Amino acid sequence: MIRAVTDPAILERAFIPYDKLLTRGAFVQGTASAIDAQGVTLEDGSRVEGDYVVVATGSRNSLPFKPVDGDVEALREANARVHAQLVSAKTVAIVGAGAVGIELAGEIAHAMPDKSIILVCNTDRLMPVKPATLGRSLKQKLEAAGVEIIFGAKAENLEHTDEPYAGILDLSSGRELLADLIFPVVGSHANTRLLETLPDIRKSRSGRFATDGRMRPSSLPNVFAAGDVVDNGDAMTIVAITRQVPWLAKTLRALMSGRAIEDIKPYAPWGRAPILLPLGPVIGSSFLVLFTAGNWVTSKIKGADMFLTKYRKNLGAASNARAKS
Ligand SMILES: Cc1cc2nc3c(=O)[nH]c(=O)nc-3n(C[C@H](O)[C@H](O)[C@H](O)COP(=O)(O)OP(=O)(O)OC[C@H]3O[C@@H](n4cnc5c(N)ncnc54)[C@H](O)[C@@H]3O)c2cc1C
Repeated sequence: MIRAVTDPAILERAFIPYDKLLTRGAFVQGTASAIDAQGVTLEDGSRVEGDYVVVATGSRNSLPFKPVDGDVEALREANARVHAQLVSAKTVAIVGAGAVGIELAGEIAHAMPDKSIILVCNTDRLMPVKPATLGRSLKQKLEAAGVEIIFGAKAENLEHTDEPYAGILDLSSGRELLADLIFPVVGSHANTRLLETLPDIRKSRSGRFATDGRMRPSSLPNVFAAGDVVDNGDAMTIVAITRQVPWLAKTLRALMSGRAIEDIKPYAPWGRAPILLPLGPVIGSSFLVLFTAGNWVTSKIKGADMFLTKYRKNLGAASNARAKS
C-alpha cells in the first residue's frame, strides 16, 4: 500500500482475497461483535461455534495504507485520490519516521524525484530501537535521494491523522512548514472493540491488550489473541506474527490432542526481530539480526516485489490480478 501511493498499478495485485486460503474449513465474511466460551457472535446475529477462538482483529492506520472497517472500495478511492494529490504536489511532508514514514519517503523519492520531501522525526535518529547502523544507513540513503529529515521535532498541530491533507505544520522546534501534501504516519491503533467484550482484560500502555504467557487476553481459557491487537512483547509487525502463528498452531494442536496448557512452553516474544526497509524497488537497508544488510539484499528479499508473488501464492490467489478500470 505504501508503494501503491506512487504506483497505483500494483494496487489490484496487493488486494488478495482470503476465500481461497483454506482447503479445509470455512471462510465467513462478517464482523464479530462478541465472544464467549462457546464461540463467536457476528453482527448479523449468526454464530460461529468453536472449542477454541483466536482473536486477530489487528489495528487501523491512516488512509490510503489500510482499509477502515474492511472497506476495500474506500481504500481504492483513497489510493486514487492521494495519488492524484501527490502527482500535483511540489512539497510533501511526512510526519512520523517509523517504518511506514521511512519507506514512504523512499518510495516517493524514487518514483517522483522532482518532489521536495521532508520527513519529520521526533527522535534524534532513525529506528532508535534498532542498532545504530540501520538508522545511519537509512539516513544516508534518504538524504542522498534528496529527502530532508528534521530530527528531534514534533508536529504540534496535525489537523488529521486519518488521511493526508494540505496545510501548514507547526513543529516543536519553532519551524513552520507549508506543504502541498502532509502524510500523517504516526502509528497503528489496535482494534480492541471485540476484545473489550471479554471478562478480566487488561490494556497495556500501548493501547493494546495484554496476554498471559500463553497468548490469552482474558479469564476465558480457550480464547487466544495474536497480532497487532495484543501486546505480548512483540512489535506490531507481520514479522512478529510469523513467530506467533507457529507457536499458536502448535499449542492448539497439542490442546486438541489432550495436553494441558500448563505443560506447553510459554510464548517468548522476538526481542531482536529483523526488519526490511526498502526505499523504492532498488535501494534500502535491513536489520537481519546478525548484521545490517544493504541495497542488494533488501531489494532481493522485499523491495523488488514487496512479497506480492509469495503472498498471492500462499493465499491461493492467481499469480496476477487485472487492474480495475
Ligand atoms: C502501511 C503499512 C505497512 C506495513 N509494512 C509492514 C512490513 O513491511 N512488515 C511487517 O512486518 N509489518 C508491516 N506492517 C504491519 C503489519 O501490517 C501488521 O503488523 C499486520 O497487518 C497485523 O496483522 P493482524 O492480522 O494482527 O491485523 P490486521 O492486518 O490489522 O488484520 C485484522 C483484520 O481483522 C479485521 N477485523 C477487525 N475487527 C473485526 C471484527 N470485529 N470482526 C471481523 N473482522 C475484524 C480487520 O478488518 C482486518 O481485516 C505494516 C503496516 C502498515 C499500516
